Amino acid sequence: MTKVVVIGGGSAGIAAAIGARKAGAEVVLLERQDQLLGIGRIAGSMDVGGRYPLHLEILEMGAPEVNEVLDEVSLDNMDNYRASHYPWHSLPGSEEMTKHSWIYNVLTAEPALRRLLEKWGVQIIWRCRAVDVEKEGQRVTRVKVKIDRYKDAWIEGDAFIDTTGSAGGMKDCTKNVGGCTMCPWMQCPTFGDRVNLAGKAGATTWSMRQKDGTPGVKYNGIYLYKESLSQEWKDALAYSHQIFVPFRGEIDWDTDPEWSWATRGQDGNDGEGRPADAETSWRVSPDTGRFRLLDRGIFAGGAGPSPIPLEKLRKVPGFENVVPAGPVGGMNLWSLGHDLVFCENTLRVPPLENYYTAGSKAHIVDIQPCINTGYLAGFNAVRGATGKELIELPRTTATGDIIAFTQEFLRNSDGGPTTFVSAHAGHYLRRLKDIGIFPDNEEKAKKRVADAGLTNIFA
Ligand SMILES: Cc1cc2nc3c(=O)[nH]c(=O)nc-3n(C[C@H](O)[C@H](O)[C@H](O)COP(=O)(O)OP(=O)(O)OC[C@H]3O[C@@H](n4cnc5c(N)ncnc54)[C@H](O)[C@@H]3O)c2cc1C
Repeated sequence: MTKVVVIGGGSAGIAAAIGARKAGAEVVLLERQDQLLGIGRIAGSMDVGGRYPLHLEILEMGAPEVNEVLDEVSLDNMDNYRASHYPWHSLPGSEEMTKHSWIYNVLTAEPALRRLLEKWGVQIIWRCRAVDVEKEGQRVTRVKVKIDRYKDAWIEGDAFIDTTGSAGGMKDCTKNVGGCTMCPWMQCPTFGDRVNLAGKAGATTWSMRQKDGTPGVKYNGIYLYKESLSQEWKDALAYSHQIFVPFRGEIDWDTDPEWSWATRGQDGNDGEGRPADAETSWRVSPDTGRFRLLDRGIFAGGAGPSPIPLEKLRKVPGFENVVPAGPVGGMNLWSLGHDLVFCENTLRVPPLENYYTAGSKAHIVDIQPCINTGYLAGFNAVRGATGKELIELPRTTATGDIIAFTQEFLRNSDGGPTTFVSAHAGHYLRRLKDIGIFPDNEEKAKKRVADAGLTNIFA
């Protein structure tokens, strides 16, 4: 039986493992932590903007498993949640961005997805960090791993999928991004640093750039312990899982030079916290001096300016006792965009013959595109290993388009990209509008996938 080795169990790796199982392979998933889902353990907002067409497509393509699980662990009161976007997101066209939105519970999603992988017979090796590869010509034959930090082993396979993401590790965060924030998704001090495995295997990789050209970007967003908020904000969070907190005057949003830099392509802000394009900007609030908080289990968090000195944060009404949960200590910004890999539209990584990628390792940002590309990588890894032609999804689909668009974006980013290509907002959502995919609905997606000959392809 064909054996596929998936390296990294975030949203992309989970989907890749199931995709490869569905295509008939034996699958081993190597995860350096003792939990799955990576950054997805702190993300959770689904079906905003371009995420929605991607979600509809993966169902039509016959790969509903990961989405079904996330749907099962969605939070309650999602009607209140959707309604709470207004009036903050009330500019013309912005309603389309959020009308399908919902959130999964970031705490219960991980064990639920673990059960899903068990059900699909995926073998998971925990605390297993891939550190090197061995090749014959351009075929990877095995990866070297460290199990429980220090125990060396080799894992052989017919095909390999690199879904190690682009966040961290400590060596990059400390040197280039202002320090380790002890982020809850990488846990490098415990489980070891991120490794640029594709780079070690001979692929071309490239990091995002900060304003001054330093590699790796700072990603804004601060998560607060819900219990440390005032009762009024706690009640509002219980009602709609999201609150908008006016803080202008207390915190000077516009003076932080980095917070909106890397996200300006992603959320459509203009680099200084104002919406660049009302129809595709996440920051459509006319007064951008607001703080969106999402209720995520133990976290209240959201996209806002950070780092914010604690003494300033506590001046916001209702935040007098607030304690930041992440970045731990509240200072520094999340570190992302390291060692992104160039790949073909089939997700094979040249010049390697049997090495594939998906998700944020290929600069594809957001849970849903990570899921969609994960399935494709798993599917193609098996096709490649069994001598079949690899599938490239046409650009008439959002899934095919975001892969091709992202790779073009990487190739054309002289010196390294400085913004994200994210499905949910910003310049990529503008593109989905321009090519007629967004706004989307079930019938439209069904036809689009059928016209491309992809109905139930992953089934
Ligand atoms: C603060 C923040 C909030 C976000 N919120 C949202 C949101 O609400 N909705 C949304 O759709 N998107 C959101 N995103 C984006 C989304 O979370 C990411 O794009 C997505 O989770 C990335 O998934 P991934 O599988 O590509 O990588 P990751 O989630 O980074 O997973 C990589 C996995 O690989 C493992 N790994 C790494 N190196 C090795 C190795 N050498 N050996 C073995 N295992 C290894 C890691 O431990 C990890 O489990 C957010 C991102 C951030 C930073």
